Amino acid sequence: MSSFPSLAFDNRFARLPEQLFTRLSPTPVAEPSLFAFNDELGAQLGIDRQRIGDATLAEIFSGNSVPVGSEPLAAAYAGHQFGHWSGMLGDGRAVLLGEISCASGEHVDIQLKGSGPTPYSRGGDGRAWLGPVIREYLVSNAMPKYQVPSTLALAAVSTGEYVLREQGPLPGAVLTRVAKSHIRVGTFEYLAAKQDVEGTRAVIDLLIDTHYPELKNSENPAVALLNAVIEKQANLIARWQALGFIHGVMNTDNASLTGETIDYGPCAFMDEFNRSKVFSSIDQQGRYAYQNQPRIGHWNMAMLAQALLPVLAGDEPVAIQFAQTAVDHFPQLYANAYTERMREKFGLFDSPQTDDMELMDAFLDLMQADSVDFTLCFRHLCDEDSDELEALFSDREKISEWIHRWHQRLNGPHNTTRMQQINPAVIPRNHWIEATIEVAVQGDWTLFQRFETALRNPFVEHADFSQAPEQAQRVQATFCGT
Ligand code: AMP
Ligand code: MG
Repeated sequence: MSSFPSLAFDNRFARLPEQLFTRLSPTPVAEPSLFAFNDELGAQLGIDRQRIGDATLAEIFSGNSVPVGSEPLAAAYAGHQFGHWSGMLGDGRAVLLGEISCASGEHVDIQLKGSGPTPYSRGGDGRAWLGPVIREYLVSNAMPKYQVPSTLALAAVSTGEYVLREQGPLPGAVLTRVAKSHIRVGTFEYLAAKQDVEGTRAVIDLLIDTHYPELKNSENPAVALLNAVIEKQANLIARWQALGFIHGVMNTDNASLTGETIDYGPCAFMDEFNRSKVFSSIDQQGRYAYQNQPRIGHWNMAMLAQALLPVLAGDEPVAIQFAQTAVDHFPQLYANAYTERMREKFGLFDSPQTDDMELMDAFLDLMQADSVDFTLCFRHLCDEDSDELEALFSDREKISEWIHRWHQRLNGPHNTTRMQQINPAVIPRNHWIEATIEVAVQGDWTLFQRFETALRNPFVEHADFSQAPEQAQRVQATFCGT
């Protein structure tokens, strides 16, 4: 077996106060087999699949061998789930191998997800099954193509073991997740609940050192960090909305302090446009519906601000004032980012005009009225002629009136080529993900490979993957990634 390269682990998280984690190794699996590897990301980390070989990669990314320099640990955190305080959560099925510095100078965390039970498993088995691992692999790695900040999947390994879920025994898998950081709102909520001001300061220092160095010399670094995180969240959620992405489980333990999309459980891209669309089968109240995502992002930031109160200022009323001001910025930051993203989608590349949002909303209203496919509709909006776009709507007169108005606003034709670089042709559609999982479970990986390849060039039309699902193919619910 060829050897695994020694990575430049610096393990900053393992140097934090010990109440923030438990040291432990991943639990070995029976028969690890690598079924996916992100070569591009591997290259950035200095991990070359060809040279190392799949067998060694499978040993490492199943957790069967811990790489040299890693100090594996499960992190402690708390959180609000579906708006309710859940208290202690923590990595119940994940192990952080450590942080490394990439050639680019960036710091990233490498984490195994599905790597066995930890002290934070709360009765769970610590494992993941193949389905959600495939979903996270495909969706998270597609995100950067659309300019959406996200954790990435480096590798995915099947374990040769079964895990027991509601559906019965299912094949197990481990995902290797690479994130700027796994520090979340829930990390600070955990420290606040323990009234651990020193721990809070230590985590803030770590974040600023590694991910926000420009804030180091701020007058009040904690306030500066809060503001920076709020801005990143507002930008992130604006990008989700412009893509029709529904996260599905925006709990505070799934809100990253580095502004990346994290935790692809019951997530999905919308097919037919519906502002109140919900996918998650466990979200009975529709709390995490498409149109609620900005509001929930705002709420999560309020939870962060509250957890940071003791370090924002020595004097409580002053701290509350800092927190309130920062959180109150969110709606405007979000509105600005959303307008910018949508203006790009509509090919409005000139300076903003006051009626732009109204014009764009009118289009969305028409889409909603006819349950038009979100991605396909925006892709056809890019077309040079409007035949296929108009064919998506029942009221031809209304849509052609709207197109007329749009062209008047543009003062001429739209820029097809530029718009096609913004409105993707291929997204990780749910029915294709489900189909991919279904055959992969039976050992057929051809669809996975074809889909993954198409997702690498999502601004290019694809015969299969660009199509919207037929009524009968539409997936209405996604299940939690447990
Ligand atoms: P999530 O909904 O994936 O963000 O998970 C919420 C919490 O449940 C986290 O603390 C997870 O570590 C934990 N968890 C989820 N699935 C499992 C599992 N199969 N075994 C143990 N803990 C789990
Ligand atoms: Mg989570």
